[in-house]
Amino acid sequence: MPKPKRLPILALTMFFIVAVALALIALDVLQAWNARQVHWQAAHSETNNFARSLAQHASDTFKEADTSLIGIVERLEFEGATPASLQRIQKLQERYTNHLPQLHELLVTDEKGRALVATLPGTFNATYDDREYFRYHQTDTSPKPHIGPAIRSRSTGTWVITISRRYNHPDGRFAGVVLASLKMDYFQQFYDGFDIDRAGAISLTLSDGQILVRRPYDEAAIGLYLGNTQIFKDLLPQHPKGHFIRVSPVDKIERMYSYSRVDNYPLVIFAAKSKQAIFEDWLINTYRYSAITAVVVILLCLLGGLLYREIQQGVKTEAKLLNTQKALEVANRELEQVALYDGLTGLANRRQFDIQLETEFKRALRHGTSLSLILIDIDHFKGYNDSYGHLAGDECLRVISQVIDRCLQRPGDLAARYGGEELVVLLPETEDVDAYAIAEMLRRRVADLNLIHRATPCGKVSISAGVHGFVPVAKERTPQDLIRYADQALYRAKASGRNRVCLFREMVTEEIRPD
Ligand code: GH3
Ligand code: MG
Ligand code: MG
Repeated sequence: MPKPKRLPILALTMFFIVAVALALIALDVLQAWNARQVHWQAAHSETNNFARSLAQHASDTFKEADTSLIGIVERLEFEGATPASLQRIQKLQERYTNHLPQLHELLVTDEKGRALVATLPGTFNATYDDREYFRYHQTDTSPKPHIGPAIRSRSTGTWVITISRRYNHPDGRFAGVVLASLKMDYFQQFYDGFDIDRAGAISLTLSDGQILVRRPYDEAAIGLYLGNTQIFKDLLPQHPKGHFIRVSPVDKIERMYSYSRVDNYPLVIFAAKSKQAIFEDWLINTYRYSAITAVVVILLCLLGGLLYREIQQGVKTEAKLLNTQKALEVANRELEQVALYDGLTGLANRRQFDIQLETEFKRALRHGTSLSLILIDIDHFKGYNDSYGHLAGDECLRVISQVIDRCLQRPGDLAARYGGEELVVLLPETEDVDAYAIAEMLRRRVADLNLIHRATPCGKVSISAGVHGFVPVAKERTPQDLIRYADQALYRAKASGRNRVCLFREMVTEEIRPD
């Protein structure tokens, strides 16, 4: 039967441990990656929402101021800048400034830039012809509002953002400018009120890229021109809303920006979270999970290592046991050989013969079959030893034993060394006459060996044999009878001149035969 193939248990254990450890690490990486995506998405929608609501706020704030400008322009163009009209406008402007918290000042100039109406004290008759908004409206005939860069108010020195409109004489010529300046502080406080993140940023810029307001506040950033950046050159002209990641040119912090154009006005709002803040929680959690995974993997490797060593030990012990078992089997076989076989001739020894004789005797008794025995003795063997030495005698004994053993055909037949140079052949289910024939054949085979033996009359080694056989009958015959009578027959063969076989039954017949 083929030996069942054993699984390479050590390799499998190793593979299992490594596979589980890798699976744990892979799960950790996957989880971390998914969590990163979630954080990223959350930051994206957060900044997006910020940008949209801040754009709405900016739009509303400018619209409120602009609405007041529209009313004043309408009045000036309809009534003209008469003292009565300017007086009413003065009152109207005061009402607006009281009503709209974002308003810093409302101002009307004539075509030379002189203030005709102003809400702040001390600005009446001041000249504004050098201001950007004045020059813009002087040359641009458009009735649309104009938002200028952040400037410092001449009357208070604070930062303001201006929104202005041109008004015309009835013939369409430039008549002057109506202006509302908005407090930068208003925006700044509003933006500072948002819980975005420590390094988060909000900025309101003109569509051409000039910064108007920025959180965190940095005076150096006010008026900074970003119009030549890719965002203003490529992204904004194509997409009114969107997002991007970049390192801020102002403070060099990497952020995720969402931007949105402000409805109706040339303004853009940016809301940004710093990359560090987006991934702060994620990083902490990832470190925690990774630490737990690392501990589990280390424990797994340690336990795996122990298991591996245990199995390795087991495999070694098993191999040792197997070797021991094999050695025992060999030792047992050797012992059996020693216990049951003769060391010199290789035939069964006296002990095995005795056991076999008992067994076969009982079997023959049970089956009523005949059991025969041949007792063999080498002729003049003492003389052989004397002539050729004891070792040559041993060899001669071995050769004769092998010849006899090879002559036996049936599985039950047994050749054994009975003692000294005496051999015995046990033949179950064999009549004594048939045993005689076998003995005769054995004798001839030995003779045919032609082993020189100068101390004998015939000059070669020969054997004598005594044969006896019977059907055992309970309590009448014993196994020893077989030996005893075969021995008597052997004695007769020797006495009759050796190199011959004597059948006990014939011997008896001869003795009782009348002369
Ligand atoms: P015969 O049987 O023909 O009467 O003469 P014999 O010389 O063989 O006489 P006997 O059977 O009495 O002698 C047995 C001799 O066989 C004695 C001993 O020297 C020799 N012998 C017995 N066992 C061994 C053995 O194992 N090896 C050797 N070399 N000789 C043995
Ligand atoms: Mg003898
Ligand atoms: Mg002899």
